[in-house]
Amino acid sequence: MPDRSRCPNCREPVSPFAAGCAICGADLDTARWDKGPGIGNRIASWFGALSSGPTKGGMTPWVIVFLIFFGTGIVSTLLALFL
Ligand SMILES: [Zn+2]
Repeated sequence: MPDRSRCPNCREPVSPFAAGCAICGADLDTARWDKGPGIGNRIASWFGALSSGPTKGGMTPWVIVFLIFFGTGIVSTLLALFL
């Protein structure tokens, strides 16, 4: 199995849960899912994709949804913590 901590395209180090390579934009998610990871990995990868903001692919709408639903909550939490 290829090293998940490195991009299969450009070999740069990437987050294990990143949906795509931050350097070259390679879709890391598809490469992983083709190997049949468990449901835990799928969920982790899904959340990782939400937070990492892939530059291409079909996850962008989910990032927007995530920001709409959770972005304000995160901001409120930070304000509560630091104000
Ligand atoms: Zn890459």
